[in-house]
Amino acid sequence: MLLVDTLTEKALRREPPTREEALALLRTSDDDIMDVVAGASRVRRRYFGRRVKLNFLVNLKSGLCPEDCSYCSQRLGSGADVLTYKWLRPEEAARAAAAGVAAGAKRVCLVASGRGPTDRDIARVSDTIAAIRADSPDVEVCACLGLLSEGQAELLCDAGADAYNHNLNTAGDRYADICSTHTYTDRVETVEQAKSAGLSPCSGLIAGLGESPEDLVDVAFSLRALDPDSVPVNFLMPFKGTPLANEWALTPQHCLRILAMVRFVCPDVEVRLAGGREIHLRGLQPLALHIANSIFLGDYLTSEGQPGAADLEMIRDAGFVVEGMAEVTMPEHRDDVVAVRRRGAGTALPPNA
Ligand code: SF4
Repeated sequence: MLLVDTLTEKALRREPPTREEALALLRTSDDDIMDVVAGASRVRRRYFGRRVKLNFLVNLKSGLCPEDCSYCSQRLGSGADVLTYKWLRPEEAARAAAAGVAAGAKRVCLVASGRGPTDRDIARVSDTIAAIRADSPDVEVCACLGLLSEGQAELLCDAGADAYNHNLNTAGDRYADICSTHTYTDRVETVEQAKSAGLSPCSGLIAGLGESPEDLVDVAFSLRALDPDSVPVNFLMPFKGTPLANEWALTPQHCLRILAMVRFVCPDVEVRLAGGREIHLRGLQPLALHIANSIFLGDYLTSEGQPGAADLEMIRDAGFVVEGMAEVTMPEHRDDVVAVRRRGAGTALPPNA
């Protein structure tokens, strides 16, 4: 396919597509999906080989947020049945992080609900980072605590955080449609603050919020302009009790096109397959690994993900390796061996069976 060939050649030279090309990619037909995956896969392999980076979320503080992000189960007035609690103790967070590291996670993401941290919260998170470092000295630590006030990014950096995540989520022009309590500019400023303090910037998007293809292209180019080291691509999880509970517009093929568009716009950046992959990509998740080079292992903030063992098996079966591990090792003996069906029971067996 000529369009995909052009985008692939550009990305291999670290050149982004034009906006028109990115839009045209999102508008390709399902018949062309394997061409799209193959092109994006060449780019992924050029910069990241067959490696998949595993990230592990620790939810330090859950629910009870005063902000009104329409996609979020923890928002003001949310009717979603999610766990609510205030700040895990450092040793509890370190225990959770150690379990993720033991399963192969290279990065631990410390997340807290809320508009942004107080200085006391930053002190708590600093203690948590110290506790994690004591158990797992080599793991990368990313903080995701909302909007930062002046000086807080520097404090996190001094405490040993490696990265800061704050997503742009959607196009600037439609940010007010998904949130009224803070602005798109607030979000951009926080990513810039984190970057200036020396934290590795991580910022991504959520697809499936009712946006247009143009909006998706806009947010992808806005992310590129921020020069992030990692870009998580989330697919909306429509929680009951939130305004977007009935928003089910994504298909597995469209999720692949969105991932490929982000890969072509940010060719050598870590593209992370994030929330919603299980419910939207379903059986096409292994194809997404040919485009994204990073995933979250296990559960999300307020919902369960695929079990970690199933993720590791999917990575191995798709021909990839976990970053930092020689090979994905699976148990030699499996419980789910195929049961032999007795002759005459159910569907007829072929004559030689
Ligand atoms: S600020 Fe964060 S936790 Fe609060 S509603 Fe928005 S996304 Fe959810």
